[in-house]
Amino acid sequence: MKKKETYGIDTTLIKTGIKSQEHHGFVNFPLYRGSTVLYNNVEEMEKSTNDPLRINLPFYGRFGTPTSKNFEASISEIEGGYSAICTNSGLSAITTSILSFIGNGDHILISDSVYMPTRNFCDSLSNFGIEVEYYDPCIGSEIEQKIRVNTKIVFMESPGSSTFEVQDVPSITHICNQKKVVTIIDNTWATPVYFNPIKVGVDVVIHSATKYIMGHSDGLLGVIVCKDELIYSRIRKWAIRLGQSASDENTYLALRGLKTISTRLQKHQNQALILAEWFQSRKEVIEVIYPPLKEDKGHSIWKRDFTGASGLFSVLISDEYSKKSIDQMLNSLKLFGLGHGWGGFESLLVPISHPSTYRSFGQFNKGTFLRINVGLEDTEDLIADLEQAFSKLNNIK
Ligand SMILES: *Cc1c(COP(=O)(O)O)cnc(C)c1O
Repeated sequence: MKKKETYGIDTTLIKTGIKSQEHHGFVNFPLYRGSTVLYNNVEEMEKSTNDPLRINLPFYGRFGTPTSKNFEASISEIEGGYSAICTNSGLSAITTSILSFIGNGDHILISDSVYMPTRNFCDSLSNFGIEVEYYDPCIGSEIEQKIRVNTKIVFMESPGSSTFEVQDVPSITHICNQKKVVTIIDNTWATPVYFNPIKVGVDVVIHSATKYIMGHSDGLLGVIVCKDELIYSRIRKWAIRLGQSASDENTYLALRGLKTISTRLQKHQNQALILAEWFQSRKEVIEVIYPPLKEDKGHSIWKRDFTGASGLFSVLISDEYSKKSIDQMLNSLKLFGLGHGWGGFESLLVPISHPSTYRSFGQFNKGTFLRINVGLEDTEDLIADLEQAFSKLNNIK
């Protein structure tokens, strides 16, 4: 038989987490739910209590079930990590990871185009004596100049939320590894299928499994993948102290989502390219921001580091159009939903009221940002819907 290590990503996704022989031959791993776990005797209970990180099951539901452990092991295998930790949402995976490495008097560097709730959390850290500095996501190796003796974390998100700057993750990581600064990345957009940051030296990889991993807009889940045992133990300790735990149902759905994620992403990506090109052809659109496009500022780094793209991108509509006419256009869409979140099967189109950050927004021309989550509908239907909506946009002026 072929050795496991030699399997491609698609085979790995299918094989991972399947333990049919332990479960009466059923293909899927079962959904375990529960809080209390019963021990056979005092000795067994004491043995379990002597494991401060609660790694060895069974213990108590908050510390994980066989289902969540199986998802953690699967995602860790795909990312090339040591182990993973589930949390109740993508945001809590971020906050737990950051809190694990900081204390009063520390300084942390956060990419200026991070997901807005990440930024809101970081802003509040000044209450605890932590200095937060936002850096230009395109900084690359010049991050070195920003690192101080008390810098504990460099937090990346690539591409950035809404404005999609692609970071030079290998260069930043190389410097942080030399300077012993912990690197954390929000890898939600690329998913574990298209980019594996641990393989270029990143310490901690976060996913909002709510998005493509679960893939059906039906639950919330976060996961933290750790490069080695030291990093894992540190975050695991904090996850326990903070009371982090994940819904049993959602870890089951995440495990199931891994079986089809690669196939879904392929279609999301193909459809997104078709739609991105349609937007590029429209006179109302100043810019389409999507790393796979040759014209995109992040294209060359994306091409070097990623093996694909997901179906989320932004367009900038000319400031010739008033808010009122854009709202009318959005209200006339029939197939694109107006709603938060992304990575599900359905198309969404939302105005971005606060596209992150300092430089990122300033570097674009004035206009209205719209973020598009390209779903799995027929592209002809999606384009027809956009065409009728855009005709409204033109009429209103
Ligand atoms: C949605 C999102 C999150 C947060 O995920 P939740 O599961 O909704 O908490 C984190 N990072 C990015 C980039 C996201 O888009």
